[in-house]
Amino acid sequence: MTSLHDRHKAVIPDWVALYYNDPIEITHGEGRHVWDAEGRRYLDFFGGILTTMTAHAVPEVTKAVAEQAGRIIHSSTLYLNRPMVELAERIATLSGIPDARVFFTTSGTEANDTALLLATTYRRSNQILAMRNSYHGRSFSTVGITGNRAWSPTSLSPLQTLYVHGGVRTRGPYAQYSDERFVDACVADLEDLLGHTRDAAALIAEPVQGVGGFTSPPDGLYAAFRRVLDRHGILWITDEVQTGWGRTGDHFWGWQAHDQAGPPDILTFAKGIGNGMSVGGVVARAEIMNCLDANSISTFGGSPITMAAGLANLGYLLEHDLQGNARRVGGLLLERLRAVGAGVEAVREVRGRGLMIGVELTVPGTDQADPAAAAAVLEAARENGLLIGKGGGHNTSSLRIAPPLSLTVAEAEEGAAILEQALRDL
Ligand code: PMP
Repeated sequence: MTSLHDRHKAVIPDWVALYYNDPIEITHGEGRHVWDAEGRRYLDFFGGILTTMTAHAVPEVTKAVAEQAGRIIHSSTLYLNRPMVELAERIATLSGIPDARVFFTTSGTEANDTALLLATTYRRSNQILAMRNSYHGRSFSTVGITGNRAWSPTSLSPLQTLYVHGGVRTRGPYAQYSDERFVDACVADLEDLLGHTRDAAALIAEPVQGVGGFTSPPDGLYAAFRRVLDRHGILWITDEVQTGWGRTGDHFWGWQAHDQAGPPDILTFAKGIGNGMSVGGVVARAEIMNCLDANSISTFGGSPITMAAGLANLGYLLEHDLQGNARRVGGLLLERLRAVGAGVEAVREVRGRGLMIGVELTVPGTDQADPAAAAAVLEAARENGLLIGKGGGHNTSSLRIAPPLSLTVAEAEEGAAILEQALRDL
């Protein structure tokens, strides 16, 4: 009999890469666990690439979706839509952006694409500043601003993109710099770049680079950038697709680690808010949001069933203070993994904020990225019942750990023990 994997390969493009030599078919989930088609249970430390924000099978979310499905499933773009308005109101308030307007999309890609449409139209420029090693989506415009070569399948772009230093400094000339010196160097680099180019529309950045391997710039980098951008009238777009909703523990949004900078001009979100349902969106103050002088809709963006999921999931997150849980349990997990890493030669760095933890692996005794080691740890962890992710800018050599935000201390300990074994066995 032909396996599902073989059937997948026969009809799905080669560039849709699957994890594991023997890919997993996930059939159901509960809490922080998922089960495969053979009935094996896994502790889920990746949440379907950070889409499972609160937990699997949260009864409140399931109920809200089922009730909405029982009433009507459609696109209500042209009619009043109560769950959409209610979720927009909550997100507008939470965003910290004054006079905020919210536009819902079905993905992070579409959210960033919309942010680029707004920024380029508002500023009448198609020049965008993006960070090296960044990831912003898979559409024609968003691959054009994606600095991570592994995820940028074409060098053609409708935009002119200039890449800025700052998102990552694991390697290269900045690796040995103190935080302060690094920020100064990146600001000088930005100033120099702007001195040689025409007016850029916006700078787009992930507060913590997600696909890039969970790397963070020092706190305050974007505040320092902001002072330069403001002098030029350049907008700041924060891509919160991975960092939003309290995942980073100390802050509800990733940009708040740079809080002297104040709220961004444009904020994009997706992934976790729908807990697996396709909810993405853009927030901007009315002056920017309303700069388009023709109609623009998303047929499925803001559909009642996805909005019902978003509302119930956001309610659950706030009611159970899952941001606080991410800070507490994430802090313990980071400490535990740092202790493990100190005893394993291949671990170059364990870094993170809240429940967004990266473990960078190199060939022992060298500076060389080690994607084979990352792949081996992924396989070994899976064998022992733990799902994690991987990423990184210089090959895929970082492990990515991003469990649902309701992770318990006991589950954090269980996952850390499995990872410890996998790393020691390298
Ligand atoms: N921005 C960031 C920071 C992301 O991590 C991703 C997805 N990995 C996207 C945008 C694109 O989101 P989507 O896959 O929902 O289009």
